[in-house]
Amino acid sequence: MSIAENIKQLKETLPQGTSLVAVSKFHPSTAIVEAYAAGQRVFAESRPQELLKKVQELPEADYPGLEWHFIGHLQTNKLKMVLPYVSLVQSVDSLRLLDEIQSWAAKNSRIVDVLLELHVAMEESKQGFYEEEIVELLFRAQTYRNIRFRGLMAMASNTDDFSIVEADFERADSLMAYLVDLFPELEDFNQLSTGMSHDWPLAVKHGSTMVRIGTAIFGGRAL
Ligand SMILES: *Cc1c(COP(=O)(O)O)cnc(C)c1O
Repeated sequence: MSIAENIKQLKETLPQGTSLVAVSKFHPSTAIVEAYAAGQRVFAESRPQELLKKVQELPEADYPGLEWHFIGHLQTNKLKMVLPYVSLVQSVDSLRLLDEIQSWAAKNSRIVDVLLELHVAMEESKQGFYEEEIVELLFRAQTYRNIRFRGLMAMASNTDDFSIVEADFERADSLMAYLVDLFPELEDFNQLSTGMSHDWPLAVKHGSTMVRIGTAIFGGRAL
């Protein structure tokens, strides 16, 4: 199926209230143009250099409404390659990174929208905060004057056992509900970014408001 058909089908299947983020990493700008022509507006990249190249190839004047999210591990020395161009950083995975984003945003008189990456998977290698770290951090949310906390991002365990994947999504969803309840003053904290090409139906079942889909739109990635 074509990129346009994949997008159409996903949009028809996703419930209202769950938005589609097209993960375009490792795919050329021509593929993004195809998706844009099919009505897709939000794209996500995971590497600063690649994001920057595509931002330059797809100027806003020619592609009105096109938005970028960052979903990769972000090194603090790469902030200026990323933050000016993205509407959301989905992958804030450490206090150090959050502090550096705050400094950059204050210096540049910007408000940066972020999701906090929750560590739910069983793999030790996955990035992200533990639940109690997120609670602690959000008690101090007002001290991050240039950051708008928009919600959580989580990646489920990398396993064929869908009961484990489902449990990961359930945990993210229930933490989200707990945080919304605990921090009513964080009015924009309402996004739960869960679900990728192979597991998004389970994520949607457990409260996902934003799925991040690459392969099921663009096909396989040449690494
Ligand atoms: C690559 C990536 C995706 C998309 O994965 P697919 O399996 O191709 O849909 C989603 N989220 C993150 C954080 C990624 O790095």
